[in-house]
Amino acid sequence: MIKKYIEGEEFLFLGEQRKLMFGNYKSIHILNNFLFFPQFLKFRVQKELKVWYLQQSLQHIKKRVEYYAYRMNVNYGSVSVVDTKSRWGACTHDNRLQFNWRLIMVPPAVLDSVVVHELAHTMVKNHSQNFWIQVRKVMPGYSAHRAWINHHQDELVI
Ligand SMILES: [Zn+2]
Repeated sequence: MIKKYIEGEEFLFLGEQRKLMFGNYKSIHILNNFLFFPQFLKFRVQKELKVWYLQQSLQHIKKRVEYYAYRMNVNYGSVSVVDTKSRWGACTHDNRLQFNWRLIMVPPAVLDSVVVHELAHTMVKNHSQNFWIQVRKVMPGYSAHRAWINHHQDELVI
């Protein structure tokens, strides 16, 4: 899927399509189903959009990690977003969490499923039965959320 960066073109943000609109705005922002983009940055839409998506992604994911870490009663190190192609999340041996910045495009519940997965790795470092018990304790609908990513992977582009 190749983007043209033209007015009215749709971009996924938190699971919804937003129409790109150019105008006299100070900064990129989302309102309802629109993605407003400053006219003065129009010569580099792709670059600016990616920077903005990365920032939004980190902000959103940090909040969700905080929320679920509290619910799961676990501790973690830092949270960062990374630019990987196919990997959605990772948890290092010292519990630093890394997430694919593209997660800001998927529905909120799907993003949460990746957060829960990586937080469960702070307790269990493998994918043993005990790991899945920890995941499903906090998110019974986990499998359906992950299936969404597999089916829509190709649409997650800006
Ligand atoms: Zn895993």
